Amino acid sequence: FQFAHPVNEPVLNYAPGSAEKVALKKQLAAFKAVEMDIPMYINGQEVRTGKTVDIRPPHEHKHKLGHFHQGDASHVTQAINAALAAREEWANTTWEQRAGIFLRAAELMATKYRAHMNAATMLGQSKNAYQAEIDSACEIIDFLRYNVHFLGEIYKQQPYSPQGIHNRVEYRPLEGFVVAVTPFNFTAIAGNLPTSAAMCGNVVVWKPANTQVYSANVIMKILIEAGLPAGVINLVYADGPTIGDISFSHPDFAGIHFTGSTGVFQTMWKTIGSNINKYKTYPRIVGETGGKDFVIAHKSADPAVVATALARGAFEYQGQKCSAASRAYIPSNIAEEVKKILVEQVSSFKIGTTEDFTNFINAVIDEKSFNKIAQYIDNAKKDGQNIWVGGTYDKSEGYFIHPTVIETKDPKYVTMCEEIFGPVLSLYVYDAEKFEETLALVDSTSEYALTGSIISTDRYAIDLATKRLTNAAGNFYINDKPTGAVVGQQPFGGARASGTNDKAGSMLNLYRWLSARTIKETM
Ligand code: GLU
Repeated sequence: FQFAHPVNEPVLNYAPGSAEKVALKKQLAAFKAVEMDIPMYINGQEVRTGKTVDIRPPHEHKHKLGHFHQGDASHVTQAINAALAAREEWANTTWEQRAGIFLRAAELMATKYRAHMNAATMLGQSKNAYQAEIDSACEIIDFLRYNVHFLGEIYKQQPYSPQGIHNRVEYRPLEGFVVAVTPFNFTAIAGNLPTSAAMCGNVVVWKPANTQVYSANVIMKILIEAGLPAGVINLVYADGPTIGDISFSHPDFAGIHFTGSTGVFQTMWKTIGSNINKYKTYPRIVGETGGKDFVIAHKSADPAVVATALARGAFEYQGQKCSAASRAYIPSNIAEEVKKILVEQVSSFKIGTTEDFTNFINAVIDEKSFNKIAQYIDNAKKDGQNIWVGGTYDKSEGYFIHPTVIETKDPKYVTMCEEIFGPVLSLYVYDAEKFEETLALVDSTSEYALTGSIISTDRYAIDLATKRLTNAAGNFYINDKPTGAVVGQQPFGGARASGTNDKAGSMLNLYRWLSARTIKETM
């Protein structure tokens, strides 16, 4: 059986008067008109505990979008039991049937529920229409379609059989359940982590960030409508430590698929390590855990190209992408020109709610995040760093932070090293004749290694940077911003403190959710 080769879902442009814009506006209004009551989904059942947590748009925190029902330890146990009960039947469901469910879900997201996916992401996570479209429409659809394609390719890989012997490899799911812990910043990642493991025949307990529950609920409803059997993916809103304590001490725990902070991932890994003799099998540990992503410009670079890569790379979705440009190295010969264009571009960004489509910058995700980012800005001012633009914030209506560019004379200043996860770009002007030394600086400044860019029109400089920065980024961009990896085009992930580099949207990731059995039959 052969599924059609996927192509990337086209990005719609939401031009004034377009059908997609009309539908999206209507859905935004519909979501805002009712307070949504969001249950957990365990064993295909909606579960309400009565212990609720409010959901509010980050850009309008006085408005209530609804609430979700919070679970406790008993719900985590129920979810694990439901997953284990569903396991055998799901593992024995044919590949074509499993694939069909996820392809149907992708189709529903592309058509009937595109506006729901985008409106939920715009309101719940404060993404503008374009950022929502590339995430909660195109990328999640691409993940589903491409993963079906890649998994089909994996299943076809079979060993050589000489005369008289039949060898084959059976790509079984893992023996147990998988936990998916997902972040707020990409609805696509939240959708991908549970579905990629489930597609391989695994059963899953899915815990999204509290700040992404509004769109997680839409994803789950679509998966159910597409025919996902009860118990295969169980969506639970219990707090992280409760899920960790129960899952990571269970004998059938078989893997964790995680995107989030380095600290949380390391704590999980330690807990799993200390429980290692409890498990039936060695659990798979897969995580993407942040970045301190660089842009280095060479003296040959066009200042306008550098400024645009920085403006978009650093500030789209308020810098809340693991891949966001957050430290830049600008050669002295073009620094003045880069400054002029960058400040001009950033000053022109409109800030406000996502419902007004002319706003480029929306709010950061919550108050905790707002306070943390504001603290970095205040400290930079106190430390006498040079603020090129921005440096102000206001949380009276929503968690708004003006996109901020900080120039520092100290390439090891804290904003050059630590992940801020907000609209703050830190920048260092280097002696244009010291390109090689600066490459060494880029490599040694951060413990992360997720994404990075070189901007240059000089082929020698491009090649040198590509070589010297071999381990500094899992996704390396030449003459582009370091964000916006497209499924099927740029498999995504990083090593060092950025994660296990099991590239999302590729076969490399799917292999982690399979446990192969080799069968030799002598004829
Ligand atoms: N894949 C996204 C990009 O390339 C980033 C994902 C993340 O923030 O974790 O921009």
